[in-house]
Amino acid sequence: MAPSMSASPRAARRRQRGSGRCSSSWSRETHIRGGYSHALPGRASARQVLSTPIDPRIRFAGEACSATEFSTVHGAYKTGVAAARALLG
Ligand SMILES: Cc1cc2nc3c(=O)[nH]c(=O)nc-3n(C[C@H](O)[C@H](O)[C@H](O)COP(=O)(O)OP(=O)(O)OC[C@H]3O[C@@H](n4cnc5c(N)ncnc54)[C@H](O)[C@@H]3O)c2cc1C
Repeated sequence: MAPSMSASPRAARRRQRGSGRCSSSWSRETHIRGGYSHALPGRASARQVLSTPIDPRIRFAGEACSATEFSTVHGAYKTGVAAARALLG
């Protein structure tokens, strides 16, 4: 995130309107402190693409990688455990 970006998601959206960029600062929002993924309608299969290792030594984990438990802590946890197990063989 650019250091100059406001801590407020609303201010960030105002700033980006018409710029073609899309980012957020929810992790800096005092009353929110985080976020989770949403797939576009019809694009849920993108989670499978995201969780596919790009190299046997490099794996992704997190709620966005879970096909069935996305947007949750347990989905993030399970994908992390699975990725670690796969790396450790
Ligand atoms: C308000 C709110 C309420 C929620 N309530 C629930 C609930 O009741 N139950 C539930 O199951 N889930 C809930 N969730 C969802 C849950 O918090 C998330 O699904 C979960 O935290 C996702 O975990 P994660 O590890 O995938 O991602 P995160 O927890 O977002 O972790 C990603 C980490 O990566 C770091 N990071 C990002 N970019 C970089 C970078 N470039 N370099 C280094 N580090 C980086 C971030 O700082 C962060 O620490 C809630 C979420 C929110 C926002």
